[in-house]
Amino acid sequence: MTQQNTKYIFVTGGVSSSLGKGIIAASLAKLLQAQGYRVTIQKLDPYINIDPGTLNPYEHGECYVTDDGAETDLDLGHYERFLNVPTSQANNITTGRIYQSVIDKERRGEFLGKTVQVIPHITDEIKERVKLLGDKGDYDIVITEIGGTVGDIESLPYIESVRQLKWEMGNNNALVVHLTLIPYLSAAGELKTKPTQHSVKTLMESGVQADILVCRTEHELGSSIRTKLARFCNVKENCVIQSIDASTIYDVPNLILEEGLDKVVLDQLQLKRHQPDLEFWNIFLEKHKNPVHEINIGLIGKYVELQDSYKSILEAFIHAGAANEVKVNVKSIHSEHIDLSNTKELLSNLDGVLVAPGFGERGIEGKIEAIRYVREHKIPFFGICLGMQMAVIEFSRNVVGLKGANSSEMDADCPYHVIDLMEDQKQVENKGGTMRLGAWDCILLEGSAAHSVYKKKTISERHRHRYEFNENYKTQIESNGMIATGVNPNTGLVEIVEIEDHPWFVGVQYHPEYKSTVANPHPLFKAFIKAALDYQKNN
Ligand code: GLN
Repeated sequence: MTQQNTKYIFVTGGVSSSLGKGIIAASLAKLLQAQGYRVTIQKLDPYINIDPGTLNPYEHGECYVTDDGAETDLDLGHYERFLNVPTSQANNITTGRIYQSVIDKERRGEFLGKTVQVIPHITDEIKERVKLLGDKGDYDIVITEIGGTVGDIESLPYIESVRQLKWEMGNNNALVVHLTLIPYLSAAGELKTKPTQHSVKTLMESGVQADILVCRTEHELGSSIRTKLARFCNVKENCVIQSIDASTIYDVPNLILEEGLDKVVLDQLQLKRHQPDLEFWNIFLEKHKNPVHEINIGLIGKYVELQDSYKSILEAFIHAGAANEVKVNVKSIHSEHIDLSNTKELLSNLDGVLVAPGFGERGIEGKIEAIRYVREHKIPFFGICLGMQMAVIEFSRNVVGLKGANSSEMDADCPYHVIDLMEDQKQVENKGGTMRLGAWDCILLEGSAAHSVYKKKTISERHRHRYEFNENYKTQIESNGMIATGVNPNTGLVEIVEIEDHPWFVGVQYHPEYKSTVANPHPLFKAFIKAALDYQKNN
């Protein structure tokens, strides 16, 4: 397909936030990919931050990192997990980035004395970023998800850009899927269409007619509701697509297939429909829904009350669980609630413990106590980023005998900085986009657990941190039994630590969870789940 033939699908949201536009976009993309189309998904975020890298997880959940080191919205994680195709900086754009780029151009004099305005300068910048992915010729279809809800002041330039693009490209090259909520009023015993009518009307006020409605609902939409929605919202009846609550997000592709979403999309875009090949997907679903075993994993972090903060870790457990035919019950444990007095009570019934990534001092002593317990009791342990750093600190303090060892992030005056700031980080002043980010190679030590898990010598994994294992303590730590089994080939930075005398104790400085997909469950997560299952059998 030539580059002019790239088709564009815009996904907007109405009535309420959190309806799952990302999952709908990813599921539609999956159905199109399963018919042989090359598809990518892009997210436009209307906030003014340049990227979510500086956002607290309480604001927007996990910050997802791509191979090229972009700190992005967590929806990109869903895109990768569903499609098994890497995303990049080009797949996530924020208002902050758009404005920064336009203002930089203005300073360089590129607008030749013109008054710089939202229309056309901001909208042109948005349109350019939308078309960028298609222009490369790598994709037949680009799905662009517009963050926020129609009617938000900050979404307006995006909606205006969609209007212009649709007008320029024509209805057979661009279409709008509007995701909306059909609330159920239990007192009246009825599903209500009025909020959807209003949000479609709001979209029309900006000159955009929704082509397809995807209706989130807790109850089946009967034919009279569908007729009513079609009539009032100006869409064909087969373009009213139900999206009923599902027990797992991985059911959504099949559910919207039954509703014929792919068919109406392909019809309008004048693309041929094929029978989607979802064989592998359905095998995964079958295993996910019918596990043979069940294990309990403790997830220790300081944002455990928020579902979205550790999104990629939770999804990686689902992929690895299915691969092992295991139901993984994740028990969230707040690190601030752990101390020497309750480790046994909190941890002794678990089959494995994962200590999560994080920043700052809050809750770290609880993490360290938990790691001491699982190390001593030979419970499988998986430490990710801060979790790995805490494992190094625990080992240094309690095995090597370096009393008061810490990370310079937590205690700049501690006697032993076993985790320390990288040299090139010391001059860094700006917080945004300045960590060690994105994919870096790592060489594995032959005979290590990591090597046997990855089954190759060189791996590439994604990073997001400033602090590192301090090389000065490496010999001392290794001679006591914690081994650096993965090292960056260029810098020598330690990427993986393992404890020899333990059934499964692995800490990684990188974030394996970002690369786990349905098609490719992450090997370390698979091995950790397997180790937890073995631990359960033996205890
Ligand atoms: N706070 C630690 C660092 O910056 C770990 C970061 C993380 O867990 N992502 O190095």
